[in-house]
Amino acid sequence: MRVEIDQDSGFCFGVVNAINHAEKELAEDNDLYCLGDIVHNSQEVARLQKKGLQTINHETLKEMYNKKVLLRAHGEPPSTYERAKQNNIRIIDATCPVVLQLQRKIRKKYLELDSDNAQIVIFGKIGHAEVNGLVGQIEGKAIVIEKKTDIDQLDFNKDIYLFSQTTMSVDDFKEIVNEIQLRVSEKVVFHSFDTICRQVANRMPHIKAFASKHDLVLFVAGEKSSNGKVLLSECQKANPNTHLISNPNDIRPEWLAGIASVGICGATSTPKWLMEEVAKAIK
Ligand code: SF4
Repeated sequence: MRVEIDQDSGFCFGVVNAINHAEKELAEDNDLYCLGDIVHNSQEVARLQKKGLQTINHETLKEMYNKKVLLRAHGEPPSTYERAKQNNIRIIDATCPVVLQLQRKIRKKYLELDSDNAQIVIFGKIGHAEVNGLVGQIEGKAIVIEKKTDIDQLDFNKDIYLFSQTTMSVDDFKEIVNEIQLRVSEKVVFHSFDTICRQVANRMPHIKAFASKHDLVLFVAGEKSSNGKVLLSECQKANPNTHLISNPNDIRPEWLAGIASVGICGATSTPKWLMEEVAKAIK
């Protein structure tokens, strides 16, 4: 049986940057907290936990004083920085530069606009940490849409400025742009900004080709990973014999019967070492 790990799968530079920040701080002092899981992968979270990284939530942050808190790649709204300042918390800011740029872009647009006549719309997952960080840039005054039918809530007689969470599908974004274009009044402005990170989008053609050349595909990712869902669905389109697993224990022996080649791939939050463990388990 041939077993191949996709060389293009694994951490994107935003995740590598966050983990490097954590490792560097932990090497000096193991009293470090991370606001939310550092990455949507419980195995990697557990590995860093052993080194001292503790995951906290916003409620815990409110009651915490004089500590060191790492902000992960997804970014945070301004209220988090304010809270940290009030509580004398030192922030280790590992917000991904791509997300940071998007936060600034949305904020700038908001400050330029007359909010009574314009709507800032974000295509993304309601409640996702990155989206919360983006909405926070404009005092909560964004309309978040997750799918095409959600655009019914827009006022097509007011200006529309559309942005996207960084990990959404480019095709879905285009569909939403087309739909708004069809419905928006000619008298108003509609601008769309494709703010999707190419670290995910550029992987799609490759991962499809990778999936189609194997008899069986094991997609390794945490269930909370947004880009994992997008990339998994691309794999499943190219090869219906694709299974989502979170670790080697999820592999079912019956999947391997009569299989000549297995492809192992994953999300931008999947560590390489975990894909290697999956390969080892199969071999
Ligand atoms: S997917 Fe893109 S935006 Fe998100 S953390 Fe990775 S590099 Fe940054």
